[in-house]
Order: sequence, then C-alpha cells, then structure tokens
Amino acid sequence: MSKLKVDIVTAERLIYSEEVDGMILPGPEGELGLLPSHAPLLTLVQPGVLRVVKGNEEIEMAVAGGFVEVLDNRVTILADAVERAEDIDHSRAEEARRRAQERLRGRTEEDLVRAEASLRRALIRLKVAERRRRRGAHTRSVGQ
Ligand code: ATP
Repeated sequence: MSKLKVDIVTAERLIYSEEVDGMILPGPEGELGLLPSHAPLLTLVQPGVLRVVKGNEEIEMAVAGGFVEVLDNRVTILADAVERAEDIDHSRAEEARRRAQERLRGRTEEDLVRAEASLRRALIRLKVAERRRRRGAHTRSVGQ
C-alpha cells in the first residue's frame, strides 16, 4: 500500500520524518485529512492538534501554526512551533496559560490579540499533554 512521507520542520530543526498511512491537521477550514494519493495542495496550518497514523499507532503533536505542502505523496509541514506530546512541558504550558489569562485583562487591543494567541497555544499544549498522560503510553491503538 502506498504511504505518505511526512516531514515536519520548524525554522530550527526537523521534528518528525516518517512514512505514514495518513494524518489529520488543523487546516484553514477545520480538520484536514491527508491520505496517500492526495491532490497537490499548499495551505495554512492553524494552531491546533496534529495527528499522524502509522500502522495501528497514532501520535499527537501540538502545532502553533504554519504551512503545509502536499505533492506526490510527500507532506511537508513548516511549523512556527510544534511539539510531540511527550516533549510538552506541562508546567510551562500551565504558566503560559496563566500569564496569557492575566494579560487578557490588559487594556490595549494589541495586548488582547497577543494574549489570545498565546492562550490558544498553551491550551493546545495542555490538551495534547493531558491526553497523552491519560493514555499512559507513548502511543495508542487507533480506534481505542
Ligand atoms: P512560552 O510563553 O512558554 O514561551 P509560547 O507559546 O510563547 O510559550 P512559542 O513561541 O510558541 O512559545 O514557542 C517557542 C519554543 O518553545 C518552540 O520551540 C516551542 O516548541 C517551545 N515550547 C513552547 N511551549 C512549550 C511547552 N509547554 N513544552 C515544550 N516546548 C514548548
């Protein structure tokens, strides 16, 4: 069966590079599912949860936004920031959430916009980290 070659990179480093069966990412119009033989595509990635399915395993990552290109069964994601569930520092995300909520009480429009974006990132990280903690494992079987 054909696979998708997925490379997830930031400006600093390669985060993930694997042949996978499929993936779901937060696209501009909601969840965007990618399977082998997907049509060529270049679009935005929104802040959210990204899932990769490989065999009977599914892994989750928190992505802060970026771009995705799909071409000839290759998926390249250039992310502003992305963390695998196991790499998320839970207390750092809690602290970021607390700071952002504090700033949301600020007065200027700019404060509000920045605080909202940073709160969104913190909540995504907490969601991914907490789901992993609940599962109690690095991966889980799809459908469980
Ligand atoms: P903080 O206020 O905690 O720095 P942030 O949302 O401003 O959070 P980003 O600018 O999105 O952070 O990311 C900066 C770098 O730190 C990126 O490499 C990102 O992957 C990493 N990062 C941010 N928060 C966490 C976290 N809770 N756990 C692990 N890595 C994180």
